[in-house]
Amino acid sequence: AAKSELSPRFSFFSEHLNARAQRELALEGMLRDALRTGALTLHYQPQVCLRRMCLKGFEALARWPQKDGGYIPPSDFIPIAEKTGLIVELGNWVLDQSCRQAKEWRDEGLSFDYVSVNVSPIQIWQPNFEHIVQASLSAHDLPPNCLVLEVTENVFVGHDENRVLDVLRRIRELGVLLSLDDFGSGYSSLSYLNRLPFGQLKIDRAFVAGIDLDVNKVKLLKGMVNLAHTLGLKVIAEGAEEAPEVSIVRELGCDGIQGFYFGRPAPAEEIRSLMDNIVTLAPAFNTKHLQST
Ligand code: C2E
Ligand code: MG
Ligand code: MG
Ligand code: MG
Repeated sequence: AAKSELSPRFSFFSEHLNARAQRELALEGMLRDALRTGALTLHYQPQVCLRRMCLKGFEALARWPQKDGGYIPPSDFIPIAEKTGLIVELGNWVLDQSCRQAKEWRDEGLSFDYVSVNVSPIQIWQPNFEHIVQASLSAHDLPPNCLVLEVTENVFVGHDENRVLDVLRRIRELGVLLSLDDFGSGYSSLSYLNRLPFGQLKIDRAFVAGIDLDVNKVKLLKGMVNLAHTLGLKVIAEGAEEAPEVSIVRELGCDGIQGFYFGRPAPAEEIRSLMDNIVTLAPAFNTKHLQST
């Protein structure tokens, strides 16, 4: 106590850092165990095609279940996995598991275009990452165009742009689709757009949430959709929770939508009820009145 009276700011700061470092260390150990024992799982969130108003694909999202029935969110454990290098093992597992699941659903006759998998920059910076991708596709006999890899522009931070581009191009050459995730949330996305082998842009949730109440968001989304389409990219809007957001996003010409409105991320066993939900909700948007203005 005497010490903190002398330099309260320093003391507060270092205790804060210390607690944080300890929590991270504990989480690292737990995450290592979770990977070793197969305790992680994937949830799947549907993407809906806004033209046909039907299921388009699923995004696979990592989940770390806890004994109390809750989850440690990916926003807590992905950064630690990235810091410690565990993301390589975790990411390989996510990729493999997603391909396995997509193949199983296709064999069951489920109608969808792709499974979409988040890939950390650290995975892409591995030499020959495209071989890992190819191995997962081959192992499960999944056609490459049934796989989308989502990357963020962070993949370019601190790395030789040309080498990153080479890896991305080689992945594209496999026939796998690339999506630029969280578009609009960073700084320099625009400079990458026409040089990258991307086929899809995922618009960050910040531009979609509350778009029905904010004319500036409407203008921004409109601009982003036009830009993307001019460059030949498909646009997926993330994070629509309410029907009015879906309507506006659809009117503005987005190709697809992913958000709680059409379905929260859910375990693989719930996939049929996710699909039923879309079938129930979709007809409300198939009316012509939206386009009449
Ligand atoms: P992301 O790739 O942008 O994934 C979308 C996130 O938005 C998911 O959060 C999803 O649950 C959430 N979301 C979707 N629709 C809505 C909505 O309508 N409202 C709100 N409030 N949220 C919505 P989640 O699952 O917590 O994942 C967070 C982030 O963690 C992901 O963002 C991704 O960057 C990362 N992540 C998740 N799984 C993986 C993984 O397997 N590998 C890697 N490298 N990163 C992952
Ligand atoms: Mg994503
Ligand atoms: Mg995103
Ligand atoms: Mg993200």
